[in-house]
Amino acid sequence: MCGIVGYFGSEKARQYLLEGLSRLEYRGYDSAGISLLDHETDRFISVKTVGRVETLIKRTSHLKEAQLGMGHTRWATHGGVSETNAHPHYAYNGRFIVVHNGVIDNYKTLKADYLKGIDLVSDTDTEVIASLMARLAEKMPVEEAIKETLELLEGSFALLILDQDHPNVLYGAKNKSPLILASAQDEWYIASDLLALPSNTEQFHVMNDHTWFKLEAKKLTAYHAHGSVIDFTFEAFKDLGPLAERGEHAHFMLKEMLEQPTILETLVHHHQTHAFDDALIQALKDATSIEILAAGTSWHAGLVGKHYFEAALNKPAHVHIASEFAYHPPFISEKPLFIFISQSGETADLIACHPFIKSKKAPLLTLTNVPTSSLARMADFVLDLQAGPEIAVASTKAYTAQITLIALLCAYIEQNEATAQELLKIASMMRVFLQDHIKMQPLVKELLTNHHAFYMGRGFDYLTGLE
Ligand code: GLU
Repeated sequence: MCGIVGYFGSEKARQYLLEGLSRLEYRGYDSAGISLLDHETDRFISVKTVGRVETLIKRTSHLKEAQLGMGHTRWATHGGVSETNAHPHYAYNGRFIVVHNGVIDNYKTLKADYLKGIDLVSDTDTEVIASLMARLAEKMPVEEAIKETLELLEGSFALLILDQDHPNVLYGAKNKSPLILASAQDEWYIASDLLALPSNTEQFHVMNDHTWFKLEAKKLTAYHAHGSVIDFTFEAFKDLGPLAERGEHAHFMLKEMLEQPTILETLVHHHQTHAFDDALIQALKDATSIEILAAGTSWHAGLVGKHYFEAALNKPAHVHIASEFAYHPPFISEKPLFIFISQSGETADLIACHPFIKSKKAPLLTLTNVPTSSLARMADFVLDLQAGPEIAVASTKAYTAQITLIALLCAYIEQNEATAQELLKIASMMRVFLQDHIKMQPLVKELLTNHHAFYMGRGFDYLTGLE
C-alpha cells in the first residue's frame, strides 16, 4: 500500500507530485508529504501532513513551482501516524532527504551499529536510512555512501533520495517494493504504481530488485546494487488513466461491479483466440501437486480454483494463506507447481514466499491484474486478469476475473469447449441482473441496516459466501 512519486524536468514538479499523490490515494495512506527544490536557495523545502492529500495541496499552495521533487503517501509501519513520522525524512545533519515505501527489518541493528549517540526525531525505519547515508557520506563520495547503505539494508524498500549538497540529482532504489521510472520528452517521472504516471508518459521501466539509479537533468545512470553500471530497458507506455476514472458512477466499487460482464466476455474471447502457453500446460500436467498461494479475496478465488484444478488435472491442489506459508511452509509434494494469485501483483506476503519456491526449483504461475508487477516478473508463467485497474479496496471485478481465468485454463486442459459458452451466458445474465442495481439499493440498505446477515451455502456457494 502507500505510494511514491518523483519528478525531474521542467517547472512542474509541484503540480505533478500532487496530482500523482492524488492518483495514488486509492491505495490507502495515513499521511503525505513532498520535497521541492527551491531555485533561489538551491535547497529542498519539505511539507508534510497527517491525513489527506487535499490538505497537502492546500499547505503547499504558497510554494513556487520546481524542476525537481518527490512525494510520498505513508502507511505507517514503524511509529504512529504523526507529522514527525510522515515522509520525507531528513538525515540527522539535514543532508539527505528520503521517501520510502516498505519495511527495513534490521533498522534497529543499523541504528545501534552506525548511529550511536545520534538523536533521531521520528520512530521510523526510514529516518535510519537517511542518517546512515549521511554518516557514510562523511567519509566517502555520495554514490559510494548510497551503494553501501543499500547493501546494509535488509527488508523491502522503494526509495527516492535527495542530497542537499548536490541539489540537481535524484536517486532512486528498489528492493521488493515497486518503483517505476518513466520519461516523456525532457521529463522524468518516478512512481510506485503505473496509475500515477501522467498521460503524456512515453516510456517506462519497471525497476528490478537490487537496482538503483542516479538521475541528473538529462542523464540517467543505472546501477546494480553491487555498483556495476547496468542498462534499464524501457517499454512503450499505455495510459491506464481513463480506465481508472470513476465516470458517472457514484463510487468506484459500483463502477467495478458493473464492469464484470464485459471483463468476463473479454477473457473468454481472448482465450478463444489465444491458446494457453504449451509449456504452462505441460508444467501443470507434470506437477505432482498444485500449490496455490494467495491472501484475502484472491485466497477465496484460490479455494474455488482448487476444485477446478483437481477436476481438470486429477491431482491434489492445496490453497495456502500467503502470510502463514512464508513462515511455516507445509509439507509439499515432490514436484509441485506453485500459483500466486494477486490483483496488484505486489502482495508483500506473496513476495515473502518466493525464496521458498525458488529453493524448490518449482515452476511458478502468477495470475495478476498487473503483468508488469513484481509477482509477475518473479514467475515462469503469467496470466493477465485483464480486469483494468481496480481502485475500490473491496474487490469485485478482480475476483470474478480470477475465477473466470482459472475456469478457462482448466477447461482448456480438459478440452471442454462448453465452458466458454457457459461463461458467456453468465456474463449476459450478470448484465441483466446488474441493470437493476438502482432498484436493489433501497432493498439492500433496508436488509443490511435493520438485520444481521448470514451467508449460507455448500460447496462453491460456501466459497462465494466467504467472499
Ligand atoms: N516503514 C516506513 C514507515 O513506517 C514506510 C511505510 C510506508 O511504506 O509507507 O514510515
